[in-house]
Amino acid sequence: MAVSIEPHPDGFLLMAAAPISHDEGQIIGTIATGIALNNDFAAMIRTLSGAEIAITDKNDRVVAASRAGMTGAMLPLATAGSMESGGREYRIMSLPFADFMDRPLGRVVIMSEDTLPQVLHRANLTIIAVLVAISLGSILITAFLLRRVLAPIESLRIGAERIGRGHFEHRVAITSGDEIGSLAGGFNAMAANLEQMRAVEEKLKHAERLASIGEFTAATAHELNNPIANIIGLAKVVRKEVAADNGLGEDLELIAREAGRCGAIVRALLLYSRSSKPNRENTDLNQLIEEIIASLKPRYFAGREISINFQPLAEAKAFVDPVQIGQVLANLLINAAQAISDPGGIGIHLVDDAPEQLTIVIEDSGSGIPPEYLEKIFYPFFTTKKTGEGTGLGLAVCFTIVQSHGGTISAANRPAGGAVFTLTLPRGEEG
Ligand code: ADP
Repeated sequence: MAVSIEPHPDGFLLMAAAPISHDEGQIIGTIATGIALNNDFAAMIRTLSGAEIAITDKNDRVVAASRAGMTGAMLPLATAGSMESGGREYRIMSLPFADFMDRPLGRVVIMSEDTLPQVLHRANLTIIAVLVAISLGSILITAFLLRRVLAPIESLRIGAERIGRGHFEHRVAITSGDEIGSLAGGFNAMAANLEQMRAVEEKLKHAERLASIGEFTAATAHELNNPIANIIGLAKVVRKEVAADNGLGEDLELIAREAGRCGAIVRALLLYSRSSKPNRENTDLNQLIEEIIASLKPRYFAGREISINFQPLAEAKAFVDPVQIGQVLANLLINAAQAISDPGGIGIHLVDDAPEQLTIVIEDSGSGIPPEYLEKIFYPFFTTKKTGEGTGLGLAVCFTIVQSHGGTISAANRPAGGAVFTLTLPRGEEG
């Protein structure tokens, strides 16, 4: 800490300054504080020590004093030793002080009727107390500044470490509007960009994965299609030739049924892997939804206590492939029916929230989707259903079809229970 004294209009200014450095010793600023050696200061010293105080400049002119009226008077050095004032004999002590280059600045003159050593002792104590107060003030201000300056820097350091470990969702608190605040704002913007880039990268990876699985799947499904059709055909032909009471007949029926199931899986695989090019035409989505509901009713809703509540839009035209979008709607409605334990309900509504797109929302009162599965359900072959009940291809097909239409599909859980699928479809150029 450095201490200096400088002339001031009211007397002198006693200053203390200390550097501010952070943990690694690097100096990041300076803290300075001071006290004015003016009339008030002199009066305070008198109160504490009982002696009159005068502070003179280098020309012996009193610039501050404890007694009113003394300021401006001349107090030549010759007065050192003793002095008579107002009929009283004063003992005098004169303490010269200089600037940092040792040039004389002035004197502190202590005048006491008392015994001077005692006065001096008390005056020394007082000056020490003042200096201790200044030092303590400096320490407190330094600690305050350290908290203000270093705490946000520390939080940025922790943030940078977390981002480095891939936690792009990390943000730092912006606690001030100064340079450190704008640094924190820039840091948060950078983290948000990185987070967005990672989301895009993950989507790309997912799309690439789907594309490579798709190629392999298309080739395999194509190869399986003919042999399965042959097995079904042959089993049916042989069944006709076997007598009705022959037990082999039932086995042949089982062979045809199971081969039929294989055929259904292969068709789903083909649909999934070849659904890249939509055959678009002007389609009324209100009408398409009504048709899909009607076509599913006998097989999936007959004998069940499931209410279907469809709210059409006044106008729901889109330039899409009605077969492919019909397939998406059917898959979603079948899944909803399978997730519901009777009695239950399915709600379908259309929203024209933007002029260039339509949104279809399908919600059900079923079991809902465990949060840890929400990301995975669109992956091919992901299923929670028993073997033979689900192929895990339905939503992968939906995803591919919707993507090839330039739309989006997402799943969530309703607060009231059950799942909700949201499908957005661009209305298309000729819609
Ligand atoms: P699959 O129906 O053959 O299992 P999907 O791809 O259609 O294949 O669905 C994948 C999984 O997503 C299902 O096994 C199920 O766990 C979950 N799922 C899909 N739709 C719903 C729904 N409406 N409610 C609850 N879970 C669902």
